[in-house]
Amino acid sequence: MLRGSCLCATVRYEIRGPVSRVTHCHCAMCRKAHGAAFASYGRVERSDFAVLSGAEDVASYRSSPEVMRTFCKRCGSNLQFISDKRPSTFALALGTLDDDPSVQGSLHIFVASKAPWFPITDDLPQHAERG
Ligand SMILES: [Zn+2]
Ligand SMILES: [Zn+2]
Repeated sequence: MLRGSCLCATVRYEIRGPVSRVTHCHCAMCRKAHGAAFASYGRVERSDFAVLSGAEDVASYRSSPEVMRTFCKRCGSNLQFISDKRPSTFALALGTLDDDPSVQGSLHIFVASKAPWFPITDDLPQHAERG
């Protein structure tokens, strides 16, 4: 079991299963949402995810027709990237984890729109758009 929380710790959650497929997304929407060079996500089964506290402080924003992003409305921490195209899973904002998910392997996606001020210097696979 893995635990995570937002910056202000109002929202706390646990994951009763594995985190898979780590992606570092460089698209402009993720850069803006996270205020960073890229956003790191891990895939989680929706049925493995439980909000332990602060569920009423989880707000959502539909950033594109098929994508809903959730975040803590008190501190702004990004929590989930939920695609209508993948109803059984979501992408967890990995930076909110408090525990080590022990996941191996990852890739960069949407590098065609990456920030010009951030050079990718690792050897992970890079995809111009979706991975
Ligand atoms: Zn918070
Ligand atoms: Zn993205």
